[in-house]
Amino acid sequence: MMNIILFGPPGAGKGTQAKKLVSERSMVQLSTGDMLRAEIAANSELGLEAKKIMNSGELVSDEIMIKMIEYRMFSDQAKQGVILDGFPRTVKQAEALDEMLTHNGVAIHHVIEIGVDEEALFDRIEQRANQSDQARDDDNAKVLRQRLKIYHDNTAPILPFYLDKGILSHVDGMMSIEEVAEKISEVLDS
Ligand code: AMP
Repeated sequence: MMNIILFGPPGAGKGTQAKKLVSERSMVQLSTGDMLRAEIAANSELGLEAKKIMNSGELVSDEIMIKMIEYRMFSDQAKQGVILDGFPRTVKQAEALDEMLTHNGVAIHHVIEIGVDEEALFDRIEQRANQSDQARDDDNAKVLRQRLKIYHDNTAPILPFYLDKGILSHVDGMMSIEEVAEKISEVLDS
């Protein structure tokens, strides 16, 4: 049984790779972004609040996110091994996660950083905009720019924490989905 964190900027393909791991290794995907989108779909109070924040590319509060993950991290289902996708995103979240893991005697075995060429992310978004000529695609580039800024300011500073623990690996996310999946498998089987 293995617990892992998929780490990386928006657009790195964390969700895609997490879903492959779910089907190939019967692990459980814990995507905080998916959880928030479910709240939005359910029209809950939290969903309404989260929607505004998500649309501006900012982060939902640490308190909410920590509660959201804690509830699922130690469920019976999670005993099959979890893939954290989109959490932790701040140093505070990483510290809270560490504390709850220690408290429950659970370990994270691998943190896999999926690296991307950020200019290529914008090319992808622009290509999609040209294909679909929707007015909101310009907005998407604006929001992506903000999400990348937040990633560098708030999320990337977590990396040294996992580097020190000796569980951090890097995978090049610009390869094909299959190639990235293969590199991740190599790390998990190492
Ligand atoms: P994602 O689908 O992981 O890219 O997440 C979409 C959006 O949900 C993010 O841009 C944030 O606004 C919010 N979000 C997801 N996970 C977190 C988290 N761990 N902490 C704060 N906000 C989050």
